[in-house]
Amino acid sequence: MPDIIKLLPDSVANQIAAGEVIQRPASVIKELVENAIDAGSTKITILVRDAGKTSIQVTDNGSGMSDTDARMAFERHATSKISSALDLFALHTKGFRGEALASIAAIAQVELKTRRKESEVGTRICINGSEVERQESISAPQGTTILVKNLFYNVPVRRKFLKANSTEFRYILQEAMRIAMVTPELNLSLYHNDEEVLNLLPGNTRQRIVGVMGKRINTNLLSINVETSVVRISGFVGKPEYARKKSGEQYFFVNNRYMRHPYFHRAVVEAYSGLLKPETVPSYFIYLDVDPESIDVNIHPTKTEIKFENEQAIWPILMAVVKEGLGKFSAAPSIDFDQEGAVEIPVLSNDTEIKVPTVNLNPDYNPFTRVGTSTVGGTTYKKNAPEDWEKLYNGFESDSATVPDETVHPEIKLVPSDLGMHEAEQEVRNSSFLQLKNQYIVTSVKSGLMLIDQHKAHTRILFEKYLSNIQNKRRVSQKLLFPETFHLNSADTIVLEELTESLGFLGFELDKLGTNDFVINGVPSDLKGQHPQVLIENIVNHASEGGRDYKEKLDEELADFMAAKTAIQAGQSLSTEEMEDLVNQLFACNNPNYTFKGGKVLTILQTEDVQNLFK
Ligand code: ADP
Ligand code: MG
Repeated sequence: MPDIIKLLPDSVANQIAAGEVIQRPASVIKELVENAIDAGSTKITILVRDAGKTSIQVTDNGSGMSDTDARMAFERHATSKISSALDLFALHTKGFRGEALASIAAIAQVELKTRRKESEVGTRICINGSEVERQESISAPQGTTILVKNLFYNVPVRRKFLKANSTEFRYILQEAMRIAMVTPELNLSLYHNDEEVLNLLPGNTRQRIVGVMGKRINTNLLSINVETSVVRISGFVGKPEYARKKSGEQYFFVNNRYMRHPYFHRAVVEAYSGLLKPETVPSYFIYLDVDPESIDVNIHPTKTEIKFENEQAIWPILMAVVKEGLGKFSAAPSIDFDQEGAVEIPVLSNDTEIKVPTVNLNPDYNPFTRVGTSTVGGTTYKKNAPEDWEKLYNGFESDSATVPDETVHPEIKLVPSDLGMHEAEQEVRNSSFLQLKNQYIVTSVKSGLMLIDQHKAHTRILFEKYLSNIQNKRRVSQKLLFPETFHLNSADTIVLEELTESLGFLGFELDKLGTNDFVINGVPSDLKGQHPQVLIENIVNHASEGGRDYKEKLDEELADFMAAKTAIQAGQSLSTEEMEDLVNQLFACNNPNYTFKGGKVLTILQTEDVQNLFK
């Protein structure tokens, strides 16, 4: 029987090892940028092409390397950072395995240019799949530039396994954001296909977080700080009402390194208890500092889970400091009122019950009973008003309210009555209509009494109209006299870019001004007092909360969201003609019974049941 054990050729062994460290373009960026930071750089520039699949280049102004070091750096287990096994337990420097460059060189085409301050000439090395192709002297600025091309070119399975560019780029951005938040003193920039995505100037931690997450977060950050014998905790937590459904603004760092920590996450959430709307997650940026020897960094370089020796002790400290941060805030809630001055107060009709915003002190503080404001693009909008704020507008629009233009929309015609259509519709046309509680339309039909939810009915009607506009690529837009500009954070920018085309068919004419800046040139013709920018921000939030499911049904989701926003609301009184129009349009819909989300639009109270009421 022949021997069956064979030694793998080096090249294959290298590729397998590389797979552990480098899983996707984002891992290359993490390793290269961490090396650049370790080299004492103050400015790091990342250039990415095609989400890193074509190329990734990281340039720094750090120490640079000598000829020999440059060559050595690509050897497996070559590192200048470990002198004894004990060092392994210290997390002070970031990379420590001496494997990153060797791994990258095994599965890509790499070009390194580097020069030390004290050397007159620099070095250039080209490596293809672990093979050094050339090394030569060149003139180069001080520091290091590493160019990584065609990642996984020699490992087709791995390359095939990479996700769509938008997804891979999201990983890259996430990695860059995590690094950025622990290096506020660094000038860090990221370009994708020549477009600037991040350009962060040196500043303090708060400025850095705002730089990364977008200006909107600035007024929502509350600082926390505590120092004990087991841990020092600092950073920021978001105001309760800033909590959103999407996760993605939760950041823990330990000894200046990003980590995931579900157990500590629960401590933070616990501190918010009673303050959050259901299913929302608070934002936080929390930096823990502990003795490096008291944590076990999983030696796997790409893992972000970390085991703490003093987990149990840290939990209550963390919870208390977050609580304290929130408490400070609730004790002085009027601050954000006063600062912003021009709060827009809706005109109230006489019969509206006016709620006085209440100011509660800890521990009864509840963010949902007070009115806050937020500043968007220089204008102040109401935010987190009492939950029933829409009722403030009750009857407000009703005088002038007409059923919007789609009444005369050529698309919507009555279904001929001989088609097997909704039984109810056959009789409604001659019926009279009655409005119940400014919310339901009541009319009699053959089998009994039909009740229609006016908001859901109009949502269904508009949904079908908007969807048909998107699907038929029909643009109906109203030019804005004064185009509005707005700013998003980088992650939201990516989401919005994916939506831009469909939004165009809904009537939003959007153009990109700069990296994360947009201008609204046109809007849908029937926005019903909705502020276009706020609406777009809502759509973006909704889309990023929706994740993959959302993308699959992008057009439907968009149409439904817009429809729900612009439809007649509950509480609006309608004239008989308006009710009739609405009912007619409803029964011209493909599916008058349910909204896209499955909400019941109408119900019929059977005559028999009515009769029973009198027994
Ligand atoms: P590690 O970072 O774990 O030491 P790497 O493979 O990432 O291992 O890097 C190997 C060595 O190459 C580093 O220890 C460092 O000496 C050198 N090196 C890598 N990148 C840079 C850089 N941008 N500037 C200066 N030296 C670098
Ligand atoms: Mg390294």
